[in-house]
This record gives sequence, structure tokens and C-alpha cells, in this order.
Amino acid sequence: MEQTLSIIKPDAVAKGVIGKILDRFESNGLKIAATKKMQLSRKDAETFYAIHAERPFFNDLVDFMISGPVVVSVLEGENAIAKNRELMGATNPKEAAAGTIRADFAENIDANAVHGSDSAENAAIEISFFFADREIS
Ligand code: ATP
Ligand code: MG
Repeated sequence: MEQTLSIIKPDAVAKGVIGKILDRFESNGLKIAATKKMQLSRKDAETFYAIHAERPFFNDLVDFMISGPVVVSVLEGENAIAKNRELMGATNPKEAAAGTIRADFAENIDANAVHGSDSAENAAIEISFFFADREIS
């Protein structure tokens, strides 16, 4: 069993599709091991996306991630990391395959509805950034 971190980003929360996105996970064999809605601080978003600190879009990305509440979840299942990335679709919704979360709910590459961990190493870091062990089951 593998775990991964998902974030439903401010654009999708504002649109009222939290339930529809969580349903994609549960309907495709990913269990919701933990979930909560929260408002990220600027420091939270800068720390979470520190890997992109040198990218030209970093400031816009941080501004976007704190523009409204998000829903962070731990998803669990077989190959959960790859499975979640598959359900999410490509980073740019214009390139995302039909039926993926980003194709169905995202507007553009800045407001792209969801985040998902991209490796086992990052999943462990991201899960412990948001959740205590006793919150995950
Ligand atoms: P995420 O990390 O949010 O799950 P991802 O792994 O598909 O998305 P990354 O390359 O990690 O994509 O980029 C992180 C986020 O930065 C993207 O989700 C997107 O919102 C933003 N981003 C990435 N590339 C660009 C770009 N070229 N222009 C603007 N924003 C971008
Ligand atoms: Mg990424």
C-alpha cells in the first residue's frame, strides 16, 4: 500500500467541486486516509513549493495557492502516487487527457485544480508537512 498527498487547489474549492474530486479518488480505488480544508499562509505555500523557488512562475504560484482555502488529503492504495497523477491529468489542462480531473475542472496552467505528489520521497515529505501520524488511518 502506498500513500500520496493530494491538494484540491483554491480554484476547484471556489467552484464547489470538492465532493466531485474526492469521488474520483474513491471511485478509482484510492482510499481517503486523511482530509481537511484549510487556508495556507504565504509561508506554508513557499515552503511546500520550495522546489520551484527559482522558477519564473513561483510568486504567481504562491499567490494563487493562498488565494482561498484548499483541501489537503492523504490518498492510499496500490500505486497511489502514479494512480493519482493519472487521475489528475497533465499540468496544463489544455493537454490533459479527456476524463481527467484537470481536463474536467481546471481552467489553465496556473489554476489547475489539483496537486499530487510526484515521487515516494516527496509524498512522505508532503504528508508529514500537513498531517500528524494520528490523523491518518
Ligand atoms: P503540482 O505540483 O501542482 O501537482 P505538477 O506536478 O503537475 O503540479 P509542477 O511542474 O510540479 O507540476 O508545477 C507546480 C505548479 O506550478 C503547477 O501545478 C502549475 O500550477 C505551476 N506551473 C508549472 N509550470 C508552469 C508554467 N510553465 N507556467 C505557469 N505555472 C506553472
Ligand atoms: Mg509537482
